[in-house]
Amino acid sequence: MGRKRTLPCDPEKGSIEALEFQCWFCGQGIERSDVGAVIITIESLWRWESESQSDDDPVQSVYAHSHCAKAKLEGATMDIEPSIFGEEDDTRLQ
Ligand SMILES: [Zn+2]
Repeated sequence: MGRKRTLPCDPEKGSIEALEFQCWFCGQGIERSDVGAVIITIESLWRWESESQSDDDPVQSVYAHSHCAKAKLEGATMDIEPSIFGEEDDTRLQ
């Protein structure tokens, strides 16, 4: 498997402080104050399902603001658990 994992941040850029996470949906930087910000990992469903994954399998991670993820990841069959965003699980009753 020749494909490399995609690193959204350039490790050459230096210190940890220089790392910047950019929201996949809106393209804006994600501030540390966005405590519910998420990382979304994308990989092959079938490799995952058959547990035939190796460390070399292509996988990509994207980042998102909590509010962008909530707005854009509204699924047809299930909701993202509020706890993912560091919130109490009481919004389901709405
Ligand atoms: Zn965003």
